[in-house]
Amino acid sequence: MTEPTPIGHGGRLTVDLAALRANWRILATAAECPETAAVIKADAYGCGIARAAPALWAEGCRTFFVAHLSEALSAREAVPDAVVYVLNGFPPGSAQAYRDADLRPVLGSRDEVAEWAAANREAGPRPAALHVDTGMNRLGLSVPDALSLAGDPMMAEAGFDLLMSHLVSAEVEHDPLTDHQAAEFARVRAAYPHLRASLANSSGDFLASCRADLARPGYALYGGNPRPGRDNPMRPVVRLEAGILQVREVEAGATAGYNARWVARGPRRLATLSLGYADGYPRASTGRGEAVVGGVRCPFAGNVSMDLIILDVTEVPRDALRRGAPATLIGDGLDLDTVGRNAGTIGYEILTGLGARYERVYRD
Ligand SMILES: *Cc1c(COP(=O)(O)O)cnc(C)c1O
Repeated sequence: MTEPTPIGHGGRLTVDLAALRANWRILATAAECPETAAVIKADAYGCGIARAAPALWAEGCRTFFVAHLSEALSAREAVPDAVVYVLNGFPPGSAQAYRDADLRPVLGSRDEVAEWAAANREAGPRPAALHVDTGMNRLGLSVPDALSLAGDPMMAEAGFDLLMSHLVSAEVEHDPLTDHQAAEFARVRAAYPHLRASLANSSGDFLASCRADLARPGYALYGGNPRPGRDNPMRPVVRLEAGILQVREVEAGATAGYNARWVARGPRRLATLSLGYADGYPRASTGRGEAVVGGVRCPFAGNVSMDLIILDVTEVPRDALRRGAPATLIGDGLDLDTVGRNAGTIGYEILTGLGARYERVYRD
């Protein structure tokens, strides 16, 4: 930590908005699409929509995707003139709330399209996106439905201005499913030639087969690696640090933490950090988690507890172990993807789960 340990909070989450903007630029270049949007659902993947969206807007991003109406309203406040699409569509009876805030739902079923079209008929045309399912089996019209509805008056009344689909495994190199999805998407595009099209997420941004009119990266904007197994082209955006509360020496055979899960195999030095699973740092990292202290990667000792983590700091120079000295949980070479792997999950879940309990610092 460059600043003293936070007083009043266990940890500090630093969000680097300059890195976020640089990442959007990198993705906009890689995507080779006429336009690159930003996915800012889940409070901009935990980074804070109120700060992330204006930073992206300042860099030239004009189109944003969120999952829910509440997120869309936050986006509307943060970037008043942006185009905002809502990925999860609109709940029955809520069309007016979307219309009032100039939001564009992403529609994915006949019922949803019919309800939006009816609202447009009654109150005047408002745009929306059409989601076609090319393999996820999650949201969207099936390809046959999309093809057979192409000439239906209801589709014209729905006011579509964007056709989109979502990739199943774009992060897996040479996955035949991605090519299959791209081919299916091309068939639907041919039936809706007047609509702009969007297929790529972060990983798809790097695939020529997924090029269209609009790219929709999320995770990579915030520093996640869009191409696992290769060097990460993105700049780290989040940094998570916590202060050392206490340091102690233990003898061989001593245990640490709840349920005595960790046993010292020799004399060890332990440091207790002011951060735990209630901060959004997964308890599942027990036994595999790491933090960096004084430039040294240290393994967790014992269970991650609610507000505390015990580290084995035996290899750390003694002068880096003052009370209040910093430990880095994300950053200093510990990237999101590693932290996710150590918790048996993916970096996405780490990022979006980072708690509201931290002191938050924004840099630009
Ligand atoms: C979340 C999401 C994205 C962004 O995906 P990343 O893998 O985070 O880049 C794009 N499109 C849809 C439909 C999504 O749900």
